[in-house]
Amino acid sequence: MQIATSNSSTKPNYFDYAVIGSGLAGLHLLMAMSENPFFSDKKIAVFDPNLKDNNDKTFCFWEKSSGKWDNCVSKTWEEAAFYSKQLKLNHKLNPYSYKKINSLDFYTYCLKKLESHKNIKWFVTSVIKIDQNKLFTKDQNNYEIGHIFDSRITYSTNQIAEKHSLVIQSFQGWFIKTEKPVFYENQFTMMDFRNPHKNSTSFMYALPQSPTEALVEFTLFTPWRIATSEFEQQLNSYINTHFPTTNYEIRATESGEIPMTIFPFEKANTPWVTKIGTAGGWVKASTGYCFKRSERYAQHIISTISKVGKWTPSAIPIPSTRFRFYDSLLLDILKNNNSKGIVIFEQLYKKTDIDLIFKFLDEETSIFEEIALISKLPAIPFLKSLLRVFFTKK
Ligand SMILES: Cc1cc2nc3c(=O)[nH]c(=O)nc-3n(C[C@H](O)[C@H](O)[C@H](O)COP(=O)(O)OP(=O)(O)OC[C@H]3O[C@@H](n4cnc5c(N)ncnc54)[C@H](O)[C@@H]3O)c2cc1C
Repeated sequence: MQIATSNSSTKPNYFDYAVIGSGLAGLHLLMAMSENPFFSDKKIAVFDPNLKDNNDKTFCFWEKSSGKWDNCVSKTWEEAAFYSKQLKLNHKLNPYSYKKINSLDFYTYCLKKLESHKNIKWFVTSVIKIDQNKLFTKDQNNYEIGHIFDSRITYSTNQIAEKHSLVIQSFQGWFIKTEKPVFYENQFTMMDFRNPHKNSTSFMYALPQSPTEALVEFTLFTPWRIATSEFEQQLNSYINTHFPTTNYEIRATESGEIPMTIFPFEKANTPWVTKIGTAGGWVKASTGYCFKRSERYAQHIISTISKVGKWTPSAIPIPSTRFRFYDSLLLDILKNNNSKGIVIFEQLYKKTDIDLIFKFLDEETSIFEEIALISKLPAIPFLKSLLRVFFTKK
């Protein structure tokens, strides 16, 4: 890996491939390229002003047994808890595990692996414009590229909301250290609906790292946002209610927003540019998860290009129409009747095995499994949503 800055004097201006953004999707793509011999003689440029030397996200995902990123995993859980005012469930995840990766470990691991690939050149700068296959950077250089993978987000939330139901997954979390051991470290909390914010679909998500350390995160699935002070109030009240016997200190924080939408991001693709990551619609609309999909989609792109011998439209991962439809129904309910989300998740986790839920969210279920799963959910909100989805534009 070579780092080039705006002062680089030996900068060639043609690359076979360019990756804009070395975040989650860009790194998945670059790792897949680096593992495929087809790309070993291709000139690849990476553009990102961010050196990826910060721990800015906590990535979690489920998978069966061992996986490609196990070297970066900092914690694995085999049990998940679900709480609501009526329910307290403990799901054994077998055959899945729920894994946590600190983003800095992921970035460092990938950058170290990519370092030895001399055909990959890194530019610490922003891309400001693309014109067909010409790419222009903030430091006033321009490059000609065979094909560009672009993780810059093209659409504003207003543009998305004009055409499709947009729900925002907004969250703020605290990494806390308690004085006394209070956490059961073998179990993470998937959703705790016992204290939602003003009757909205909002819950606590908790990842215990040890008996005295956890990330607790208040999350909303709502079309609206709430103030930071309200997040803090929710977090404070959760910790004081459930762990009243101990003092705690906040060691770090995490916050973010993930758009939950079936907006067809792939329409921004051109023969020269493939959008990737959040910008390419790689986030699962009904959950906000993107880590494993990015791995799968990156693999699809790279293996298709290597088989065909060049970039081809069939390299673009096409989301399943059937699962987009299911996602659209849930998003419609969350947008138009937000408080109903709680009872839907309650019924889902009460009546369905978690391995089937994970399989469904991974879009690997058969239509019969989907009918069985959906038939256990409250019918009225979904019927109303069906009518809205069919008879209105949004
Ligand atoms: C706090 C947080 C926690 C999350 N946790 C999870 C989780 O547990 N599990 C999960 O599956 N998903 C999670 N997600 C969702 C999703 O996985 C992440 O948002 C993921 O980072 C999206 O990948 P991306 O490549 O699209 O964007 P990013 O990872 O944000 O990468 C985009 C990159 O593009 C660069 N860039 C931007 N503009 C330019 C430009 N003009 N020129 C060049 N480079 C540019 C940025 O510097 C950045 O490095 C989380 C999201 C957030 C915000």
